[in-house]
Amino acid sequence: MIKKLYKKIIPEKNRNNIHVFIQKLSYPLYLGNKYYCNCCGKSFRKFLPKGNIKRPNAKCPYCSSLERVRLLDLYLKNETDIYKKENIKILHFAPEESLFIKLNRPGVTYIDGDINPANAQNIIDITNIQFEDEYFDYIICSHVLGHVPNEEKAISEMFRVLKIGGNAFVMTLLNQNADKTFEDPAITNANDRLNHYGEPDLCRLHGNDFSKRLSKSGIKVERINYTEKLDIETLKKGSFGNGDREIIFKCTKQK
Ligand SMILES: [Zn+2]
Repeated sequence: MIKKLYKKIIPEKNRNNIHVFIQKLSYPLYLGNKYYCNCCGKSFRKFLPKGNIKRPNAKCPYCSSLERVRLLDLYLKNETDIYKKENIKILHFAPEESLFIKLNRPGVTYIDGDINPANAQNIIDITNIQFEDEYFDYIICSHVLGHVPNEEKAISEMFRVLKIGGNAFVMTLLNQNADKTFEDPAITNANDRLNHYGEPDLCRLHGNDFSKRLSKSGIKVERINYTEKLDIETLKKGSFGNGDREIIFKCTKQK
């Protein structure tokens, strides 16, 4: 009853902020030396569990980064100039707070967007993006495409607004044992989606053909398991997952 009233009175965006605030208050309980979050620079004795099937040591108790966010942050910092270069235009779908803080900086045109106004500053439908062709230097689209019914349209729209020579970094929930993406339009309710796709609001579970699905004409796709580039100490302390959620698909728009 109280929960229902709380949901009715407090808008979703404010509820999200309240949850993050309360969680941040409790972060000193987790301080220690075993784990290190490269997103916020704090060390912990453990990360928090996360997921429908709880993944241990997944979520940072301070900045809420997940395994995939920490790995992408490290990749962007070490392998790209997205955190340094000025006069660039960045489009960030379903913005993760830990990356938002670093990307939304002076000298950069930073646009975040989500179909749900509670999740971003701008309402952007990835299947109908309100920007001109070849506008953005960088696009970050992590764990979005699996949720979009018309994925093909979303991919073509994303690449339409990407500059020639620009990069889109795409991540998704991946069944690394499946050659093909599994999707069945008859699977519509949350429980069935959870059972078949691994999350209650997914429309499909991507397989190893995900690179191929992204490889439209003029787009080069590179599948990157960035954990392979990291030393054992960094790997152990960072808790970067098993690759199901953390593979980076680097898409480059070519001439
Ligand atoms: Zn953190």
